[in-house]
Amino acid sequence: MTSIVLSPALQKLKPSATLAAAAKAKELKSKGIAVLDFTLGEPDFNTPANVRDAAIAAMNAGHTHYTPSGGIPELKNAVCAAYKRDYGLTFSPSQVLISNGAKHSIHNVIASLCGPGDEVIIPAPYWVSYSALVELAGATAVLVDTTEESGFCMSPEQFINAITPKTRLLMLNNPSNPTGSTYPAAQLEALARVAVEKNILVLSDEIYEKLIYPGAEFRCFASFGPDVAARTIIVSGVSKAYAMTGWRIGWTIGPVEVIKAMDNLQSQETSNPCSISQYAAVEALSGPQDSVEEMRVEFEKRRNYVMERMRPWRSRYGITFAEPGGAFYAFFNVSSCFGKKLMGGAQVQNASEFCNALLEHAHVALVTGDAFGAPGYVRLSFATSIEQIKAGLDAIEKFLNG
Ligand code: PMP
Ligand code: GLU
Repeated sequence: MTSIVLSPALQKLKPSATLAAAAKAKELKSKGIAVLDFTLGEPDFNTPANVRDAAIAAMNAGHTHYTPSGGIPELKNAVCAAYKRDYGLTFSPSQVLISNGAKHSIHNVIASLCGPGDEVIIPAPYWVSYSALVELAGATAVLVDTTEESGFCMSPEQFINAITPKTRLLMLNNPSNPTGSTYPAAQLEALARVAVEKNILVLSDEIYEKLIYPGAEFRCFASFGPDVAARTIIVSGVSKAYAMTGWRIGWTIGPVEVIKAMDNLQSQETSNPCSISQYAAVEALSGPQDSVEEMRVEFEKRRNYVMERMRPWRSRYGITFAEPGGAFYAFFNVSSCFGKKLMGGAQVQNASEFCNALLEHAHVALVTGDAFGAPGYVRLSFATSIEQIKAGLDAIEKFLNG
């Protein structure tokens, strides 16, 4: 018998908790159980028709070959034009790298900048893959806990206190997965000033930039002046704004030296992102933008419905939450339910057990906050139909009523 020994880094690597939760829900569905699935954060809409048509046209035009490893010039130009159009920011194509989704972009940034002994500051709650990818690089994730009361935003003081001589990077996610929090511009600018003063690079993951609800605002981190832009590495992509999760196109915009290093890495590791998807992304960014707003409006209706239903939970069940200003997640603290009798006599002691019991007894799938560095919380993705949301919330209430 051959005994297989994995590399030390891979021995420690766990699967993505969001993808694992979604797989578990799918498995139950395949056994004929009608699971109400709120695990995955991905738009339920089909990719807009103009984008799909552009992909077909690209194939018919023979764009089915390798492209430059870091992406086609047309897409880099389209990214630059979109940031000019949407935020008035000027970038050159040499500052842009196209990758296989924003997750790949994040991995590229960390792999290019961080290694053993380095520290990466991550405000918690954070998206599952952040800490995993930092650890994969052999670096250390320095978690900074934020609170519901602060809208899950890190203060400049917290940022300063987390900085050490080993700090290589701050990873910010605005709007946030899993909390839906959005930074007020003044607070974001205060963080940017600290980054400049202490000379810290900032990876600003802005994948939910187009999903903003009334009362909240979005500011691109690089928009606070050239000194801030010089230290900012923007990560974003087409997955969320254009309902293109399966196409796998994300990008990084940053200092040319970092982009060049990431391009070298990508050229050795994956070569180019899918050629057809790249042409489709050109159309997504450069074509009519109406569908982005149409989908955002739908998400806003769902968000409002979820919030209306959940507000009474505060007094009824002691469940607390901050209302999301962006993205498509409701993130709520269920620790008041621990030790109480829930549906089917279930009793749970933590958020992971809560999710397991909810799935078993009420057939509702959520993701545990444990995966996001937020014990006691659970995440519900409302990127699904109002009917499904209504059925899901009804079922959760029945579960909570015991
Ligand atoms: N960042 C955050 C915060 C996300 O929620 C996601 C969604 N999976 C990503 C990055 C990666 O998106 P994708 O790889 O689909 O572009
Ligand atoms: N961002 C989504 C989520 O958090 C997709 C899953 C993933 O990429 O991990 O559910």
